[in-house]
Amino acid sequence: MVNTHNLNFHIPLTNHPIALKDLSLPPPSSPPRTPIPFFHLLTRLKTTKRAGWERFSIYAGESISDHMYRMSIMTMLAPPALTAQLNIPHCTRMALVHDMAESVVGDITPADDVPKEEKARREAETMEYLCGNLVGAYGGGDAGKGIMELFQEYEEGTTRDSVFVHDVDKVELLLQMVEYERESKGEKDLGEFTWVAKKIQLEEVKEWARDILKEREEFWREVGKEALNLDMRKHI
Ligand code: ZN
Repeated sequence: MVNTHNLNFHIPLTNHPIALKDLSLPPPSSPPRTPIPFFHLLTRLKTTKRAGWERFSIYAGESISDHMYRMSIMTMLAPPALTAQLNIPHCTRMALVHDMAESVVGDITPADDVPKEEKARREAETMEYLCGNLVGAYGGGDAGKGIMELFQEYEEGTTRDSVFVHDVDKVELLLQMVEYERESKGEKDLGEFTWVAKKIQLEEVKEWARDILKEREEFWREVGKEALNLDMRKHI
């Protein structure tokens, strides 16, 4: 059955979170003729900014897909001591998928006061829609199912691969933090984000974080200013 309706639905291109019901979504068809509506929805990952930076007057900051892109490359360059224990292509795919729900629900941060369970519920509901209704049985059904499984594995965070991707998520934030500080020539102190370093679990990834935090210490020394949590390297 050809469902031309699928091609015409409207994807709001704002960078604001949106409720699934407001997307004027096509009814599920089985199987969808084309993944193009799904591709269109993903544009919202390019237009939705990562939250957190605006509080520091960084308005042209990174998007969610910027963040996932760099993470994906980072997984391909996993520390050699870890590669034998990891399925790298699987980790790369997980990095590409892990924040996909934010295309609809936005980047919910601790500052938003949304309980953790509610954040997880909204994200899971979105992923069910994307993978179930929008991609659905396209191509035999494995693609949508595969994306959903990657998301769930990341959310549960219990497999070795998912622990690694969670760690990479934190290191990517640290990289971005240091880059914005440098870009501001020391006008912006983003040291409050360094706390994520404490949540890194794998020793080899902690080593990456220590290198970045050392770079940060040197930067602030060069500009001759004090900044928050400059001793974080010693606490991870
Ligand atoms: Zn992320």
